[in-house]
Formats: sequence, structure tokens, C-alpha cells
Amino acid sequence: MPYNFFSAEYYESILVKALDQGYTFLTMRDYFRNPALQVGKLAILRHDIDAKPLRTNIFFGVEQKLGVVSSNFLLVHDINYNPFAINVLKLFMAIEASGSEIGLHSNYLETAQILNVDPVELLGSEVRALRNHFDITGVACHRNIDFMANSLPHLVENWSCVRERFQLEYQAYDDRLMGNFEFVNEGLNPHLSWRNRSPEEAICEGKNFCFSTHPHWWHRRYAFED
Ligand SMILES: [Zn+2]
Repeated sequence: MPYNFFSAEYYESILVKALDQGYTFLTMRDYFRNPALQVGKLAILRHDIDAKPLRTNIFFGVEQKLGVVSSNFLLVHDINYNPFAINVLKLFMAIEASGSEIGLHSNYLETAQILNVDPVELLGSEVRALRNHFDITGVACHRNIDFMANSLPHLVENWSCVRERFQLEYQAYDDRLMGNFEFVNEGLNPHLSWRNRSPEEAICEGKNFCFSTHPHWWHRRYAFED
């Protein structure tokens, strides 16, 4: 394989392989909302938008071509991008209109510590901000490599109150999902690669898999194209 093999073409080849093997693609929202859909071999495409949000177009183009859906999680408080920049909004509104899902990506605990505000209030403000444009029902925790504060234990501990207060339906690391799906994601190993297993391995074994990807690590032709 070439040094950086995370191309649009490679992404498409993985989804085609899963479709050929009879996988059904569904959003996280649909998975948690509708147990009747939980039959056969399942794949969930999760995109955590940490940087370079417009590169999500790479995933979206392939997903549209193949007629599959994904769950896309946007950060609100971060320094890498503005989720309300017009071109970003336009892309993610088109993604939602296509039947895919937009959710909140958040490290609200870290942000609340920096801003010295209440973490639950801050989480609520992030949900409300995205709800100005999107139907937000799910949260996927984000972790900054240079800070390492993790909101997930706090979210799990406060989930019943947070879920009810902000009318949320799921958090993306719920055991009902993590216990039933292989979690496949990129990582530094030491260079950019698959963190543990490749999606092809999960497909070959017929396992349900949650395919977690980050647009800034994917490209059309080369890694520094924009
Ligand atoms: Zn993230």
C-alpha cells in the first residue's frame, strides 16, 4: 500500500466491499431509535469532524454515489473550524438533507474548565447552537490529544439527567452499540494507519462494525491538497 492510503478511492472500495457482503448501513440515530432495524450485518459510518470540515465532502460524495447514510459529528467550541461558516453549513445541511445525520462532537468538560463555566450548561449551549440548523439527537465525545481531558466519564455519569434535559437520544459510546459492533478507526501506529483492525477484516468476518473516520486524514489525490 502507498504511504498514505486514506483516499476517496480506498473509502469507496471499503463501502463497496461491505455492500457486496450484504451489509446494511444505518445512522446511529436509527440504530438506537429502531430495534427492528437491528437485523443482519450492520455498518455505521461515523465521521468525527475534528478539522478540515470541507473534506467531509470526500465521504459524502462516495456515500451519495453508493446510496448509504452516515452520522457526522460537528464540534461547536474549537479552534480548528467554525461549524457556522457558510460553506461548512451548506455542506452539512446537504448531508442532513440526503438522509444522513448530524450530531454534536464535544469535549465540553475541557471547554468548561478553560472557560470556568458549568459543564452541563455548556453542553446544553452546544446542543442548542447546532439545533439552529440541524436535528441533533446524539453526542459523540471528542478528546484533544494535547489536553487529554475526557468528557465521556462525566457524560456517562450524568447521562439520564442530560438526556432528559436536552432531549437527547444517545451518546455514541453507549454499550448497546460498542458491545455489538467492532470499532474500526484510524490512528497513529506510529504513522497514519488503522488503530487496531482494518474494516476489511471486520467485513471478512461478517462482524457489525462502526467505522469511525476523521475527514482531515483523508484526501482525494494527496494529503496536502487543501
Ligand atoms: Zn474528535
